[in-house]
Amino acid sequence: MAWAPHGLANGTVTTKWPRRPDAYFDDFPASVEVVVPEDAAPAADAAVLAAANACPTRAIAVEAGEVSLDRGRCILCGRCTRLAPETFRFEPGSATASLGREGLIVGAHEENDEALQRLRADLKARVRHLGRSVHIRHVDAGSDGSDEWELQALSSPVYDIHRLGIFFTASPRHADILMVTGIGTDGMAGPLRRTLDGMPEPIVVMAVGTDAVSGGLVGGGYTDGIGIAPRLASGGRGVDVWVPGSPASPFSVLHGILLALGRVDESGLRTRRGGRA
Ligand code: SF4
Repeated sequence: MAWAPHGLANGTVTTKWPRRPDAYFDDFPASVEVVVPEDAAPAADAAVLAAANACPTRAIAVEAGEVSLDRGRCILCGRCTRLAPETFRFEPGSATASLGREGLIVGAHEENDEALQRLRADLKARVRHLGRSVHIRHVDAGSDGSDEWELQALSSPVYDIHRLGIFFTASPRHADILMVTGIGTDGMAGPLRRTLDGMPEPIVVMAVGTDAVSGGLVGGGYTDGIGIAPRLASGGRGVDVWVPGSPASPFSVLHGILLALGRVDESGLRTRRGGRA
């Protein structure tokens, strides 16, 4: 019965995000940013080159003196922030999900607004018919298990995604969203395809975690996994929402789910479709 006084002492721990701001959502350092000085491109100096060379996943690119960082490859090891603190820093905020793979690249790189609008409109048309209750089928396509810990947290009292009408389901037949973690191993190509075949249209696909986005640190080895996109492309499918992070934090995953459903925007603010969320 020790939980009773503990519970009474702590009160309600469930976040009210996105209906109300949450300091943990806003403050958690979920990504690395390229610091762009006013009126200038980030300098590709010796420290930046050292950081690019030290990056274990080659997430940093220096081209024609311009610096960019691919959050879809970043495993948040922090080496670049220590070697070149003037240029790289951890960015507070859990709104890291993106509708386009290009949106995960920050720094000198600029996202194509027109392409993003098209992605947004296509997704909006597909999720229009989903009701207020949404079911997710999760498939581990070669994960190290860390992403799964974060997904489990979504059903805990702190995040309690059921309050938003979001549930995990064991059956693809009942699922609206396919959520994939892991590097996309060769052996998981078949199970992924069968899961997709078993799901009713419309299907929304989420790649969760840097491993699923790009293969991360261990991708490209004997398992041939470089992210889930090539596995899905062979079945004529694409990824709709990309959630970086190694692992992706529960709030970032939740941001990705609500972004897919059009209930929040890229910056995590509630949209009109957000309704009671
Ligand atoms: S924090 Fe990310 S970008 Fe920086 S060195 Fe580590 S993996 Fe590379």
